[in-house]
Amino acid sequence: MRRKKKSNIKKTLIAVTALLFILFAVLLIKEKLNNDNLPPQEVQEEEKPSNNQNEPEEEEETSTEPEKEPEEEEPKGPEPEQPPEETEYGIIIQNPEKIDVLVNRKRNLPDNYVPEDLVTLSEVPTVLSNPEVNQLRSAAYEALKELFNAAREEAGYELCARSGYRSYNTQASLYTSYVESYGQKAADKYSAKPGQSEHQTGLAIDITCEALNYKLDTTFAETEEGKWVSENAHRFGYIIRYPQGKEKITGYAYEPWHIRYLGVELAEEIYESGLTLEEYFQ
Ligand SMILES: [Zn+2]
Repeated sequence: MRRKKKSNIKKTLIAVTALLFILFAVLLIKEKLNNDNLPPQEVQEEEKPSNNQNEPEEEEETSTEPEKEPEEEEPKGPEPEQPPEETEYGIIIQNPEKIDVLVNRKRNLPDNYVPEDLVTLSEVPTVLSNPEVNQLRSAAYEALKELFNAAREEAGYELCARSGYRSYNTQASLYTSYVESYGQKAADKYSAKPGQSEHQTGLAIDITCEALNYKLDTTFAETEEGKWVSENAHRFGYIIRYPQGKEKITGYAYEPWHIRYLGVELAEEIYESGLTLEEYFQ
């Protein structure tokens, strides 16, 4: 009996081993057939990932981290009505013409987006000779005139427009020259990548005054003009877009000179709330 049992076990073992061998052989043959029959398209697809793996390795030191973050965080984006079309640097905004459009380091304007209603800032003092930057969308311009007039009439301050609308291409050259002069890291900290500048919306403008020699500087916040702007811009539909201490949320250091048009209602709500545009939309 014992012998029979033993031989039965032996037989089973042999059978199982044989089956495993057969299975393995079948798998091997199948894989070989698949490899032989790979259509050219599939081969191409296989090559792609290996290329992608190489890219980040080369750029590791400079920009891998900031590039990855937006991609990962993107699906949580604040405006669900804008389907996330992903790029290397975040999503492409679907309705760039909206007055409350949110543009930042994760939300890109289409590279061909030019606002349809840009107008020249003909009735306010300007600093730069480049006609492109002396433009804003018409609603933003009307509000800017009111803001500047109020500053003059209510407080006797002369404000000056320095840089309004900026095209994708202008921002691209600015960014490139920044990278060349100061390196990628500094560029990513202080300059917007093309498509990520609020200036491309035609709804944002950098303003200054004589006390600053018409330049842009954080000391604008300490001038009488700067203080007046921070306390009154919302009445005319503008907010200080990059407030102090909110760098991590907005992605930009404090810029007391950069004001963004949102319409009076929204600007007042945001001013009262003390939130950034990012936080408000969350
Ligand atoms: Zn600006």
